[in-house]
Amino acid sequence: MLPRTASTVIVGGGIVGAATAHFLADRGETDVLVIERGALGSGTTAGGLGGIRHQFVDELDVRLSLMASAFWREFEAFTGSAHAFEQRGYLFIVQTEEGLAQMREPLPLYERLGVPVKMLEQSDIAKLVPGLRTDDLSGGRFCATDGYGDAPTALAGFASAATLEGATFVEHTAVTEVVRDGDRVTGVRTSAGDVSAERVLLATGCWTSALARTAGVEVPIWPYRRSIFESTPLPRLARIPMTIEWESGFHFRPSPRGGVTQRFAVPNIASAGLIEKGPASPPRSFDELTFPPLEVPPQLSPWARARAAHRHEAFADLTFARSWSCYYEMTPDDHPIVGWVPGVRGLAIAAGFSGHGFMHTPATAQLIAEELLDGKAHTLDISDLSLERFQSGRRPFTATVL
Ligand SMILES: Cc1cc2nc3c(=O)[nH]c(=O)nc-3n(C[C@H](O)[C@H](O)[C@H](O)COP(=O)(O)OP(=O)(O)OC[C@H]3O[C@@H](n4cnc5c(N)ncnc54)[C@H](O)[C@@H]3O)c2cc1C
Repeated sequence: MLPRTASTVIVGGGIVGAATAHFLADRGETDVLVIERGALGSGTTAGGLGGIRHQFVDELDVRLSLMASAFWREFEAFTGSAHAFEQRGYLFIVQTEEGLAQMREPLPLYERLGVPVKMLEQSDIAKLVPGLRTDDLSGGRFCATDGYGDAPTALAGFASAATLEGATFVEHTAVTEVVRDGDRVTGVRTSAGDVSAERVLLATGCWTSALARTAGVEVPIWPYRRSIFESTPLPRLARIPMTIEWESGFHFRPSPRGGVTQRFAVPNIASAGLIEKGPASPPRSFDELTFPPLEVPPQLSPWARARAAHRHEAFADLTFARSWSCYYEMTPDDHPIVGWVPGVRGLAIAAGFSGHGFMHTPATAQLIAEELLDGKAHTLDISDLSLERFQSGRRPFTATVL
């Protein structure tokens, strides 16, 4: 049954919506209603690779990672549910001198913030991932405190903690409109009736743009398909780092809950066979409210098998047990939009994480909870993540997609 009022409505029951409900309720704001149009976690959260890294180029991203990692390490103490953050590191492997120079560039930032990142020679790389082909590499970069988790498991932990703390989750109910009275948002219209609210948070991932438009707000977030392949069992690689080819973007990690199989994240391959790590520009059009289920593009499987076989001897005769495609939630600078919407009282956004929203979730959720309850996030200054940057044309970040 859908409540008719709530002090805070969160639209979207992905990992960001669920975690924010927990952080709000944990601070005593228990009149929180999360409305999800499918099942919890059925959006992008269902399709991700679960990587958690500190190796970004912008300082704010590294600070968000540090804040989030502190939470990931203590997830069970904070939520009462188990979630394994396996700190096996992120290993970037690099073929070109230009790539190596890019790897070295943020080292002073990491040193200043106390993130243990080091450059590697071929022989160091071979020790980290025995059997990996290294003769075509010019070097690598490694951070031992990076690692991986599992977004659906973490979402379940956040949602159960929030529920025990008093928040309400309603599934299979679509929000069709954000209701506005002048410059203030007063609630939402849904497929099951209206809900009035003091605050509405759009945690609607790649579907945010169309919903925000119902409140007269333009939000530059669009979907971008990415694909993952999972191997049949390869237990000898159960404890390797997340391993990333810097130039191609191809990366792999042991699967969650035991690492018996490997998961491979594959860049898109354009028609001329060119690797496309991220979108060059927003799509001309897309069905914003109801995306069709995504097929994995047929050209990716042979490409992924060939790339994997080139990179590791254990992948020579790889069989994929399953594969899926899902949407990254892109913005023009590959950074999320988090915070109050300028000029529309009571409306906030936490969306558009551009392929790295899982890892930052605990930080994002704590900071957006501060924004909602205290007027402004204060544990970290996130004003650069405001929608304002796209309205004013400011560009505080370096755009990079992994
Ligand atoms: C292939 C792939 C690999 C990835 N790898 C990583 C990784 O290694 N590390 C990492 O940190 N991140 C990764 N990500 C990104 C990460 O998964 C996302 O950034 C994160 O899950 C976003 O969570 P969210 O809650 O913002 O969005 P979502 O999970 O999409 O949640 C939004 C929810 O809103 C709901 N919704 C939308 N519109 C409405 C409406 N009108 N009414 C009600 N409900 C609505 C949707 O149904 C959805 O459940 C990856 C993503 C993909 C696709």
